[in-house]
Amino acid sequence: TLSDRLNNVFDRLRGRGALGEKDVRDAMREVRIALLEADVALPVARDFIARVTERAIGQEVLKSVTPGQQVIKIVNDELITMLGGEDANAGEASPINLDVRPPAVVMMVGLQGSGKTTSTAKIAKLLKEKQGKKAMMASLDVNRPAAQEQLAVLGEQAGVATLPIVPGQQPVDIAKRALESAKLQNVDVLLLDTAGRLHVDEALMAEMKAVASVSTPAEVLLVVDALTGQDAVNVAQSFTDEVPLTGVVLTRMDGDARGGAALSMRAVTGKPIKFAGTGEKLDAIERFHPSRVADRILGMGDVVSLVEKAAESIKAEEAEELANRMMKGKFDLNDLRKQLQQMQNMGGLGMLAGMMPGMKKAKAAMANADMDDKVLVHMDAIIGSMTAKERANPALLNAKRKKRVAAGSGTSVQEVNKILKMHQEMGRAMKQIRKMGGLKGLAAMFG
Ligand code: GDP
Ligand code: MG
Repeated sequence: TLSDRLNNVFDRLRGRGALGEKDVRDAMREVRIALLEADVALPVARDFIARVTERAIGQEVLKSVTPGQQVIKIVNDELITMLGGEDANAGEASPINLDVRPPAVVMMVGLQGSGKTTSTAKIAKLLKEKQGKKAMMASLDVNRPAAQEQLAVLGEQAGVATLPIVPGQQPVDIAKRALESAKLQNVDVLLLDTAGRLHVDEALMAEMKAVASVSTPAEVLLVVDALTGQDAVNVAQSFTDEVPLTGVVLTRMDGDARGGAALSMRAVTGKPIKFAGTGEKLDAIERFHPSRVADRILGMGDVVSLVEKAAESIKAEEAEELANRMMKGKFDLNDLRKQLQQMQNMGGLGMLAGMMPGMKKAKAAMANADMDDKVLVHMDAIIGSMTAKERANPALLNAKRKKRVAAGSGTSVQEVNKILKMHQEMGRAMKQIRKMGGLKGLAAMFG
């Protein structure tokens, strides 16, 4: 992955005393390969390397005491810039613009299957629940069978009104009707879910332009699938040339996107990524934070997002206590059990592992253990069959005790071992964070 590659480069740089120009150039060659392998568009990668190199071979770095760290910091800074963090609110997520006379229209555009309809409902739900906005949605997708019904169903789930469907009505007329209806009902935000095509074509662009001209959207958000890599970049380019985009929604960030789409999007569209979709459920959407994504790319994990996510699904005090225990290295099986329960609320295992620093091993261990979310229930039973002493001190679990626990939970000694192994790996990951000085250290290193 991109972060593996970068970490290899950085491992070589870290802790080195003097650093010559050649060292920097060698490192940058590796970084360039890493970016291209992650599907970053070539011109974007080239530009990135040029900027980093220029800063890195400047006096300040070569003469500094920790040149390796400096280079890493520069790469991090430039990643943030590349991800759109050079805005006034540096490193922060760009907010959605509702600063117009209501109803503020948010128009969603993109190819078929990119996640437009889902994202429309996710954003509507977010605006309603987090910002107390009165939202309304309308589907202008008359191409795909049942597309309008799909939005209506999601509207029910999200608790957001949708415009009643009038069969046979065309997109521009639906948009006009939606606007009228939104005005009458004092709606704050009207989200228009437009039709997509399998490919960018003229008919699609003409339709988008016509809809935009009757609805004067405050936001035109391009929805792109992060998993499509280079294609996502091409799609973004085509839309940028035709419609006045104001931002990007990057979906399927929960999958193993190689990160390239995120990195190229800003350079190609000139617009910030405003949201990242992280799953199929309606809550699986996040504000896009360039600085956090940069951290994640650099393999430092996304501790802040993780903590935030946790805080949403667990009680705040509990989260704080858990974080404290993690940092102090007191992470026993009781904590693991709590975590497993919370994982289910936080969107499952894969997502969590992807967000944690140093979790690669733990993730591998999970994969080895063939873990899916059903297994969480099993694991809960296993830990439940241990004594309080065993949970606090897993080292007590000798062969005999393991047998008892396996029998008690209706599992096998092997499965008990898997949990213990996973607990160990997680403990190691925590230690790694601590070695870096905990959360504060992480921030200082890259702040
Ligand atoms: P549209 O054709 O652009 O409207 O795409 P849809 O919103 O209908 O989404 C297509 C499929 O992608 C659906 O099965 C969604 O559940 C799924 N999907 C959308 N966003 C995400 C995401 O962020 N992560 C994942 N894993 N799936 C998503
Ligand atoms: Mg759709």
